[in-house]
Amino acid sequence: MLFLQLVGRLLNGRCLTPATLRIMKLSSYEEKTLKRCRQEALKAGASFCKIIPASKVVTSDWVRLKCQFGCDAFGTRHTCPPFSPLPSTTERILKDFSGAIFVVFRAPDSSLQRRLRKKSRRLLASMERELFLDGYYSAFAMGSGPCNLCPACEPDSPCLHPEEARPSMEACGVDVYATARAAGFPLNVVRTHDEGCSLCGLVLFGQRDSRSREAERKSLRSVRTSRSVRTSGRKKRETRNAK
Ligand code: SF4
Repeated sequence: MLFLQLVGRLLNGRCLTPATLRIMKLSSYEEKTLKRCRQEALKAGASFCKIIPASKVVTSDWVRLKCQFGCDAFGTRHTCPPFSPLPSTTERILKDFSGAIFVVFRAPDSSLQRRLRKKSRRLLASMERELFLDGYYSAFAMGSGPCNLCPACEPDSPCLHPEEARPSMEACGVDVYATARAAGFPLNVVRTHDEGCSLCGLVLFGQRDSRSREAERKSLRSVRTSRSVRTSGRKKRETRNAK
């Protein structure tokens, strides 16, 4: 048991376990792209970032209740319920994705939470954009908590930052606790303001554009060809010099 716990802990520190790689069937180029995104998140201050299969993202109907009864942002943001997708819709949508980058920002106390929420939302949107440009045309980010990119939100008028405003995981019916634990992050209930909190986000990714895959294959082929031309040239020179 202790051994299994130890192995589990070691694997949690890695962004892509062999099992994850097998499930997602990533090429080495794709693996590199996702690892680059992960590095970017950690450099931007994320305390945890892991690439997980989309099947590990858990949705539950009860999550909507927490938004509807108990959150004062209900109905006040473009990105919050009732405008965000129902848990059952998210569950269906998740089937179109193969993986997700799960990110956690740690706010040591409640005074930093607002600033960090804005920062994490921007980072997740930029990761979504980067994946999109790399050929993951369905990439989609989900942040944490109600959108706070503007001082006030007017759901009856168009969103002022549609390129960055994304719904939170919970607004889409994702069970954040279960998903975080499935990703290997021990998310627990926060009981006091002094305990600080963890802001979680996701960037879902699915199929990669076949043209991007083809371009990647071509560039690999041309690198190999130029390497073999250089090697044969060097061998010829060496043979000539030996004579
Ligand atoms: S970016 Fe502004 S307008 Fe758009 S959802 Fe967020 S707060 Fe509302």
